[in-house]
Amino acid sequence: MNLQEYQSREFFERFGIQVVVGDVASNPEEALGIAKKIGLPVVLKAQVLVGGRGKAGGVKVAKTEEDVLKLAGEILSMEIKGLKVRKLLVAKAVNIVKEFYVGFTVDRGSKKNVLIVSEAGGVDIEEVAKNTPEKIYKIYIDPIMGLFSYEAKKASLLLTRDMNIAPKIADIIERLYKVYISLDANLAEINPLAVVDNSVVLALDAKIVIDDNAMFRHPELEDLREPTEEEKLELEAKSKGFTYIKLNGNIGCLVNGAGLAMATMDLIKLFGGEPANFLDIGGSSSPDKVANAIEMITRDKNVKAILINIFGGITRCDDVANGLLKALDMTKVDVPIVVRLTGTNEDKAKEILKDTPLIYTDSMVEGVKKVVEVANAR
Ligand code: ADP
Ligand code: MG
Repeated sequence: MNLQEYQSREFFERFGIQVVVGDVASNPEEALGIAKKIGLPVVLKAQVLVGGRGKAGGVKVAKTEEDVLKLAGEILSMEIKGLKVRKLLVAKAVNIVKEFYVGFTVDRGSKKNVLIVSEAGGVDIEEVAKNTPEKIYKIYIDPIMGLFSYEAKKASLLLTRDMNIAPKIADIIERLYKVYISLDANLAEINPLAVVDNSVVLALDAKIVIDDNAMFRHPELEDLREPTEEEKLELEAKSKGFTYIKLNGNIGCLVNGAGLAMATMDLIKLFGGEPANFLDIGGSSSPDKVANAIEMITRDKNVKAILINIFGGITRCDDVANGLLKALDMTKVDVPIVVRLTGTNEDKAKEILKDTPLIYTDSMVEGVKKVVEVANAR
């Protein structure tokens, strides 16, 4: 789970990492209120879960009160890399002398945590990593021994030999490690870690990603989740026992098994169609589950036709067929549905679906060709 910058900042503060003063706002008036409290100039920062907000125009300096209102309005109506901006952080604008990069993440190759630092922090860190990798230092941390103070000191001295600054950075690195470990994060990053006037070292950005597999150890963090519309659907599907991921095409897919679902999507593309979603209904599909899945697929207004591709092993084809009839009773489906059912009890299924408007086939290739044809015809 990704945390927003304003949420990550709170954890930094809780662990004693100094952040630049600021607060979060949901509208221009609130932004102005915060700006008045902390004093101009301020930096307005879009709170979206993507990197490179600065380069995308989501980080702007406001020098006057009018600027705050105008720029806050602009940023709050932006969409950055497909994500709507709903909140912004209003932070005191500071005079940056130097920007460093400091972060912890998991290195699966070495099976260790890794401390990554660079003297070339800021918005161009990706380019630095690509073009001048020698400016990026990595220190591998033994997961059982943890981070030693000397490792933090060593990292700080790779960044600067200024003795007014290096010990402060070493201290921040040790604190960041505590944030990283105690939250079960797989990323904790400060970019930039900035030196400002009078050798003060501040976190100007904050990024924490919590390991989803460890969320059960942090139930209180669930409240911090700010799902996008699409993620809300994914969570709803999960609670109903199937996996749904929205895509951009017009052919809804309902399939049992992730592998078959991928193969179905491949085949749809092969025959010139575009899947509208990935949906794996899993094993033992009760009629209710099928009905819920169909209902979710049809919420997507792009869907012009639905392909149901079930291989009945544990899932029985007659169960799926009954589920389909139930779903069609529950929700009005006004797009054609192509059904490919083979395996356990397929004869019963065929019997159940006889005399219904569903287009029945027992071949996957035929089913996919048919659904692409009917979707394209609409
Ligand atoms: P992103 O990494 O998403 O682009 P950042 O929060 O890192 O967003 O901001 C981008 C750049 O904006 C920073 O590298 C820094 O140069 C500048 N910046 C961010 N916050 C401040 C601030 N409070 N005062 C001055 N400059 C800032
Ligand atoms: Mg940044």
